[in-house]
Amino acid sequence: MAIAVYPGSFDPVTKGHLDIIKRAARMHDKLIVAVLINSAKHPLFTVEERVKLLQECCAGIPNVTVESFDGLTVNFAKSRHATVLVRGLRAVTDFDNEIQLAQTNHALMPGIDTMFLATSIRWSYLSSTIVKEAARYGSDISKFVTPNVEAAVKEKFAQLQKT
Ligand code: ADP
Repeated sequence: MAIAVYPGSFDPVTKGHLDIIKRAARMHDKLIVAVLINSAKHPLFTVEERVKLLQECCAGIPNVTVESFDGLTVNFAKSRHATVLVRGLRAVTDFDNEIQLAQTNHALMPGIDTMFLATSIRWSYLSSTIVKEAARYGSDISKFVTPNVEAAVKEKFAQLQKT
C-alpha cells in the first residue's frame, strides 16, 4: 500500500493546499495530512483548530486522514509506514528551502522520498500568510479558502479584537 504524508503548518488550510491534497490523494492509496506542532512559529489557530478545519475540508475524500505531529517529519512518516512526503512548490522562492529539507529528510531516512507537486497557476500566489493579512484588514477571503475556514478566520480576528 502506498502511503504518503503531506506535512505543513496549515494555519489555516487554503485552496492551494486543497488542490495539492486532492492531486496527491489520487496518486496514493492513503494520504495523511500532518499538521506540525511547531512552538517556534506563532500560529493564528491552535493545532486542534487546524486539524478540525482540514478534516472538514477533506471529508469528501475517502483516502485522506488528518493528524497532528511533533518532532521530525520523517519519524512521523515512518511510524505511519509512509514512504512518500508530499510538498507543494509555488515558485523558485520555495525551491532553496524545499530542496534542503528534502535532502536532509532523505539523508535521515533513505526509505522515504519527497515528491514535489507544482502548484496550479491559479493558486501560485496564495499562502496562509496572505489569507491572514487580507482578513486582518477586512478583505474578502472567500476566493482563497473554503466557507468553514473563512468563518473561522473572521471569528478569530473578531475574538482578537475584543482582547
Ligand atoms: P510550512 O510551514 O511547512 O511551509 P504551509 O502550511 O505553509 O507549511 O505549507 C505546507 C505545504 O503546502 C508546503 O509544501 C507549501 O509549499 C505548500 N503550499 C502552500 N501554499 C500553497 C499553494 N498556494 N499551492 C500549493 N501548495 C502550497
